[in-house]
Amino acid sequence: ARQFTRPLNELANQINTVLSAIAGAERVFSIMEEEVEDDVGKLPEHFQIRGEVEFRNVSFKYESKNKSDTVQNLNFHVKPGQTVALVGPTGAGKTTTMMLIARFYDATGGVILIDGYDIREFKRSTLRRQMAFVLQDPFLFEASVRENIRYGRLDATDEEIVEAAKKANAHDFIMKLPNGYDTVLKADGSEISQGQKQLLSIARAFVANPAILLLDEATSSIDTVTEKKIQEALEELMKGRTSFVIAHRLNTVRHADIVFVMKDGRIAESGSQQELIGKDGIYANMLKQSKGGGV
Ligand code: ADP
Repeated sequence: ARQFTRPLNELANQINTVLSAIAGAERVFSIMEEEVEDDVGKLPEHFQIRGEVEFRNVSFKYESKNKSDTVQNLNFHVKPGQTVALVGPTGAGKTTTMMLIARFYDATGGVILIDGYDIREFKRSTLRRQMAFVLQDPFLFEASVRENIRYGRLDATDEEIVEAAKKANAHDFIMKLPNGYDTVLKADGSEISQGQKQLLSIARAFVANPAILLLDEATSSIDTVTEKKIQEALEELMKGRTSFVIAHRLNTVRHADIVFVMKDGRIAESGSQQELIGKDGIYANMLKQSKGGGV
């Protein structure tokens, strides 16, 4: 399951680059400079997204790949506030689907609509401001805990940061760090646990207050106490936001409004978890094989 993290880490790095550009950091990678420069869209920069996401016959192929489409003929319509669980084997296209929602790539076929507007009518910066990622392996900067959380929204006040950390169940552990919110983290975050990194990432998402959440559920084992904190904080975070979750936990799938079972770049099955069990197809088989562990 570690393979999931690779593309999303790439994604995180891109977000990093975009935000650095916004923050006025001296140098950004040329590829992203191009992207920032052609960041055009007809809709107003401050367009308030409600979180409706529709895919109409969406296909996408990575340029480096010249065989078949990576995702093909994706069709779905998600209402604001709904939770979608994406399940399926590695390479099925779950991460690619999330990247398309955040417009890291444009579909090579079909159309993606956000709140009924073609995604290409939004500036990427407008979309990114209203979307947040919580990744398996959140990336941290060599900066204070406070700045690491502020990364969710660069103009957040110190009070907002503490408030977000409290909602994320991160405040208590932060207060126990040598310098609290001023503790400078190493770039690899080696002084805090994997679970604590997740909590910081959730705090970041609270600060961002996005309409759309893109989550990649952790597969690595996290101690049960922290795991519970993460689950609680995520539940709170997902309230009232459209959420796409690459799900590995049965519980997450159970609570989703819709489950997309992806296979070979397609949505092979969809429905509520109960409906999928009733179909006795791919998902039901995955469940049987996992013997109640995860999916
Ligand atoms: P999942 O998240 O379900 O594991 P992905 O969306 O990561 O699936 O991958 C779908 C397919 O696209 C895989 O065959 C993967 O190797 C390929 N892929 C992912 N990212 C890239 C990329 N940046 N360039 C080329 N191929 C990629």
